[in-house]
Amino acid sequence: MRTIGLLGGMSWQSSLEYYRLANELVAARLGGLHSAQLVLSSVDFAEIGTLQRAGQWEAAGQVLAEEAQGLLAAGAEMVLICSNTMHKVSDAVADVIDVPLLHLADTTAQAVTRAGLGKVALLGTAFTMRQDFYRDRLAAHGLEVIVPEAADQAVVHQVIFDELCVGTIREESRQAYREIIGRLVDQGAEGVILGCTEIELLVSATDSPVPVFPTTRLHITAAVDLAMDDQLYREASAGLRPPKAAVSALSLVPSRR
Ligand code: GLU
Repeated sequence: MRTIGLLGGMSWQSSLEYYRLANELVAARLGGLHSAQLVLSSVDFAEIGTLQRAGQWEAAGQVLAEEAQGLLAAGAEMVLICSNTMHKVSDAVADVIDVPLLHLADTTAQAVTRAGLGKVALLGTAFTMRQDFYRDRLAAHGLEVIVPEAADQAVVHQVIFDELCVGTIREESRQAYREIIGRLVDQGAEGVILGCTEIELLVSATDSPVPVFPTTRLHITAAVDLAMDDQLYREASAGLRPPKAAVSALSLVPSRR
């Protein structure tokens, strides 16, 4: 089994899910006392949130790149950014590692395609719903992506940051999400991407008339597949180039802390 590297804390509520699911998936496959071999680097989400709101994505990318190097130094053989939003800076991370980076939009799009669907709704933070980085990556897999109207986007975003990221689950918010999903289905959505790693804490298949795609579960399932299948791992590693900045050189840069 290869070592999974989780870049988490964004927020820690969903990192807990990544950790729990990784262990459950490995135990289900290997049985007994087996559990996942993984390392976790968990950031202070307040710092990341401040950079997001200020639009300082380059600085945020630098933070995650440093954390990713820490994961590699600790033995990670693949890296997962445990936030859809922070895939806005996935290139900054990919540039400094020489192990596979499992892109959340790819693992999600593959699941949607496997389900035979073409038009999907995307729920996530305002950054994920409004900007191109995530939608374009889904579209590159041949998917047609729709997002909620502006007022509904505001509700989805606010529930993520004010409630789910601090561990609050409210029935009223679940109902609001159900209604938003209903409006997207009326617009032709054949499936709904829960494109924020906390949303599946609130919403599940029973809240939607069409299939939902829980990105946390899909992401960590793909990681466990990769960790346990040598052939798959070789394929995922095949196109990798040496990091643009050598890990050993960058590790000499003083930490931001
Ligand atoms: N976990 C979230 C996501 O998947 C939101 C937190 C963040 O902005 O990173 O997008």
